[in-house]
Amino acid sequence: MSYYDEILEAKDGQVLFLLGNEAIARGAIESGISTAATYPGTPSSEVGDLLYAVYRKAGIHFEYSVNEKVALEVAFASASLGLRSMVFMKHVGMNVAADAMLSIAYTGTRGGLVIMTADDPSMHSSQNEQDNRHYADLGHLPMIEPTTPQEAKDFLQRAFDISERYRVPVIFRTTTMISHERGLVEVSHVGKPREIVPFESGKAEFNSLPQYAMRNKKLLEEKISKIKDVESDRFVSIERGKEDEWGAIASGVGYAYLHDVISKHGMDISMMKIGMTNPLPERSIIKFISEHPRIIIVEELDSYLEEKIRALCQLKGIDVEIYGKMNSYFPYDYEFNMDVVRSGVMKAMQKDDTHMLSIREESPLLAARTPVLCPGCPHRASFFTVKKALKLAGMSDAKISSDIGCYSLGVYEPFDMGDYMISMGSSIGVASGLQNALSERSVSFIGDSTFFHAGIPGLINAKLNNAQTTLIILDNRITAMTGQQPNPGSRDPQDLNAAGNISIENIARGIGIDFVKTVDPYNIGEMLHAVTESFKVDGPAVIISSRECAILRDAKEKKAGRHVVYAVNVEKCTGCEKCVEDFACPAISMSGGKATIDPDQCDECGVCAERYVCPFQAIEVV
Ligand code: SF4
Ligand code: SF4
Repeated sequence: MSYYDEILEAKDGQVLFLLGNEAIARGAIESGISTAATYPGTPSSEVGDLLYAVYRKAGIHFEYSVNEKVALEVAFASASLGLRSMVFMKHVGMNVAADAMLSIAYTGTRGGLVIMTADDPSMHSSQNEQDNRHYADLGHLPMIEPTTPQEAKDFLQRAFDISERYRVPVIFRTTTMISHERGLVEVSHVGKPREIVPFESGKAEFNSLPQYAMRNKKLLEEKISKIKDVESDRFVSIERGKEDEWGAIASGVGYAYLHDVISKHGMDISMMKIGMTNPLPERSIIKFISEHPRIIIVEELDSYLEEKIRALCQLKGIDVEIYGKMNSYFPYDYEFNMDVVRSGVMKAMQKDDTHMLSIREESPLLAARTPVLCPGCPHRASFFTVKKALKLAGMSDAKISSDIGCYSLGVYEPFDMGDYMISMGSSIGVASGLQNALSERSVSFIGDSTFFHAGIPGLINAKLNNAQTTLIILDNRITAMTGQQPNPGSRDPQDLNAAGNISIENIARGIGIDFVKTVDPYNIGEMLHAVTESFKVDGPAVIISSRECAILRDAKEKKAGRHVVYAVNVEKCTGCEKCVEDFACPAISMSGGKATIDPDQCDECGVCAERYVCPFQAIEVV
């Protein structure tokens, strides 16, 4: 039985050692969901990995939608019929889904509808570290935040209950540490799916015309007010200390750090954990603050809780000293750790912590390394070839806009391909905008999954404006960076829901792009010719550089028992270092004045054997 099957089939009372994200997926199954939809994004990806592996057995509809907005619309439609449904995404995915979410907040739902966001403080794999708690305020939506994997599972079920009871979508927020921490989780039984609720005609329940939206806004406020009265305080837990003067309030991973700091350093102060961060449990907060004249607030990213608690104190005329971000006890930037929380707590309590070892000092330092494309990665060959083509065309100064995906690593030496990288699908819009100002041709890169997600409107716009740009679509047949999920161009052939692969070439031609060429990046000569030709086109040109991800190819080759050994012929190698400096495959290095290939790292792609990489053709099949 596979790891994911074991999680699906675990029995009531069994204890598993789960990632926060796996606990969330199990919680969804225990909640009796009928529909789950997502666009993969770290740190939320493992929720989808698990559900994708088990959805047929679990009898639910699961899909990797084309983007987060569509995923939310799919889940919403199912929930509008009374079926429990869930959509999940990384924090920036909420920006894409927000257009639909802020209207769905008004229409409400019938079945439980949970919108999970996984925020990424410190931007481990993201372009920003936005604090998605603000979406709860913006949408007037309830928000629930777990602290442990057990809570991740249990709170998710409660989120479904609340969503169903009050007919309102509930936002479920994690951060990287909550999604990726592992802990013991006691599971309960798998839930039964809900029955479809017959649709009442004439009520325009899910229609957002202004006249209905006005009615629904009032209803939404009533729902939130009831949730504040009845539910918010149920998500509070307090650990009592002996010292009355000080109290601390935290939520999410902030509470986990606070708890460890307080217990590790023998402080005996009371700690309040808030599990529902919108609407806030005001009764519990007021009572706690009234008992402790000095309050420390621990929260990652923005001063969301602190601002609300300060406002509440002002409103209620409570005289309390608050120590948080707004008076510089804790930073606004980056992920917290024990050092950050301890330092803030000690500073607030005027205790000396200079003698204490930093957590980082206690751990051996990790070597700092620049991330690199994998050996055999087709993107390396594409960047190498485009760079060569730009040089040959005298366009080495052309502006390059890249996009979100593993190919964003092309920004590093020796390729230097990424003057811009903003958001999903932005490469084409930026590239076509640049030529308006600079009157010169630009080049942009986008991956296949990102093209489907948000790149198509940019290409339509480029065509409408006859933008002088060459778009290279790096089609590696997978959503690689987030863990090899399928996308509309590469559906799993076993996936019964798949309607077949969508052709990128047909889309580009359908938009009216005349110059569309599909090339194999491993064939450098062919690609070089196509890219050079594209520079002569008047208007947008599209080159689809199509070759599956090296990791996928590697697995297939191994399975088929195919094995080709590439090595450097030292007789032919002049030691010019072009293969290392210009191509930069991690498997190739210099030793004793000659190039050498590490067979353990080599992916056997064979690109380095091309004369364009080694002008002396010293790399050969052995
Ligand atoms: S490019 Fe060819 S000749 Fe130059 S170092 Fe590499 S293998 Fe040797
Ligand atoms: S064949 Fe050459 S380019 Fe390909 S992975 Fe091996 S060393 Fe790198």
